[in-house]
Amino acid sequence: MNVCVIGTGYVGLVTGACLADIGNKVICIDIDKEKINKLKKGVIPIYEPGLGQLVKDNMKKKRLSFSTSLEEGVGKSTVIFIAVGTPPKDNGEADLTYVENVAREIARCMTSYRLIVEKSTVPVETGEWVKHTVKINNRRKVAFDVASNPEFLREGSAIGDFMRPDRIVIGVESKKARELLTELYKPLSALMVVTDIKSAEIIKHASNSFLATKISFINAVSNICEKTGADVQKVAEGMGLDRRIGNSFLNAGAGFGGFCFPKDLAAFIRISSKLGYNFGLLEEVEKINEDQKRILVSKIENSLWIVKGKTIGVLGIAFKPNTDDIRFAPSLDIIEALLKGGAKIRAFDPQAMSKAKKVIKGIKFCKDPYEAAKGSDCLVIVTEWNEFRDLNLKKIKKLLRQPLIVDGRNIYDPAAMKKLGFKYVCMGRSNS
Ligand code: NAD
Repeated sequence: MNVCVIGTGYVGLVTGACLADIGNKVICIDIDKEKINKLKKGVIPIYEPGLGQLVKDNMKKKRLSFSTSLEEGVGKSTVIFIAVGTPPKDNGEADLTYVENVAREIARCMTSYRLIVEKSTVPVETGEWVKHTVKINNRRKVAFDVASNPEFLREGSAIGDFMRPDRIVIGVESKKARELLTELYKPLSALMVVTDIKSAEIIKHASNSFLATKISFINAVSNICEKTGADVQKVAEGMGLDRRIGNSFLNAGAGFGGFCFPKDLAAFIRISSKLGYNFGLLEEVEKINEDQKRILVSKIENSLWIVKGKTIGVLGIAFKPNTDDIRFAPSLDIIEALLKGGAKIRAFDPQAMSKAKKVIKGIKFCKDPYEAAKGSDCLVIVTEWNEFRDLNLKKIKKLLRQPLIVDGRNIYDPAAMKKLGFKYVCMGRSNS
C-alpha cells in the first residue's frame, strides 16, 4: 500500500519505518528541513533503539523515503497518517494548530480518494473537526474518509511495541476505511479493536490517564509506607501479583514525565470539563505527580541541611530510560528547584545530554556518572537507566564529598547501601 506519514518525530518516524518494513511504500513528510535532510542521509535525529538500522534498511530497499513536500506525499499515497505534535496550551488543553494546518493542506492537495488517519493523540471530537476542515478546503470535491488510529508505542521500546502491539485501535465510519486499515495492519497479526472515531479517540486518552493514575496511586501509597516504616516495593509486589491489578506502572518514585502522560492527562481533564464533566480524579493524579517531585527535592534539602552553595550530582535527565526525550521530564523541575535553592549541579545522562544542553543553563554537564559524583555533596538518581544500577559504588563513595545518595527511583537495596557506608535516602522504603 502507498502510505504517507506527516510529522516525522518519535511516532511518525517509527510508524513510517515499521509500515515500510512490513512491505508498504512509505513517504515521511516534515516541515523541519534540517530533520528531513538528515534523514535523507540516513542520520536519525532521535535516539530510539533499533530505529537507525530499520530506517537504513528500508531506504535501501526503496520502501521508505523522506520529503518536506506534503503535496508530494499526498499525491503518492492512499492512506495519510497525521502524526504531528499536539502540545499542551498553558491551560492544559491540547493545541491542535498543527493538526488543523495539516488537514487543510491535505485537502488542498488531494486529487483522488484519500483516507486521512489521526495518529497523533487528540481529544475526542477532533475527528469531526478534521472532517469539517478537509470538507471546506476540498475544492476538487474529492471523496475522502477520516479515521482514528491512536498510537500506544513507548519511547525506548517503540519498534517492538509497534510491531507486536497488545492491540491496534481503529476508529472508522466507512467500510472502505475499515478495509484499508485492517489490510494495512494485517501482517502484524495483532488483535484489532474496531470502533467509531470518538471511541477510538477516548481509548487513547483514557488509557494514558489510567496508567498515570496507577503511578500516582502507588506514589500516594509510598508516602503512607514512608510514614509507617513499610516498604512500598513489597506493597507493590503484593498488589501486582493480583492479576486484576498487574505489576506494571507500580514503581514508586519522583513522578512521571514525557510528551504523553502529563499532556494527555491535562488534555483529558480539559476536554471533560468542556463537555460539562469535572474529572476531579484526574486532577488529583496530576497534583500527586507534582508533589512527588517536590518530595524528592525536600529529601535532598533535609539530607543536606543547607542547599545553598552545595554541589549536587544528578544522574538521569531523560524522562525515562532508553530515550533522549526530555520533554516534561521530572529532572527539569528538580534541577530548577535545586538551582533556585542556590545549589551547583553536575549532571549526566547516557543519551539526553545534547537535548539537555539546549534547554538547561547554568549547570555542569559531565562525561559520565563518576565525573558527576566528583566533589559533590550528594548524588541524586532521577532516571533509572540500567547503567546506574551497575555503578562502582565504592568508587562513587570515594569521589563524593560525603557518602550521600538520594534515590528518586529506588534502584538500590537500602541494606546493601548501608553496608557500603552510604546514607541512602529513597522513596517509600526505610532509608539507611
Ligand atoms: P514530535 O514532536 O517528536 O514530532 C512531531 C513532528 O511533526 C515534528 O518533527 C514536527 O516538525 C512535525 N510537524 C509539525 N507540523 C508539521 C506540518 N505542518 N507538516 C509536517 N510536519 C509537521 O512528536 P511525537 O512525540 O512524535 O508525538 C506526535 C504525536 O503522537 C503527539 O500527538 C503525541 O501525543 C502522540 N504520541 C506520542 C508518543 C511518544 O511516545 N512520543 C506515543 C504515542 C502517541
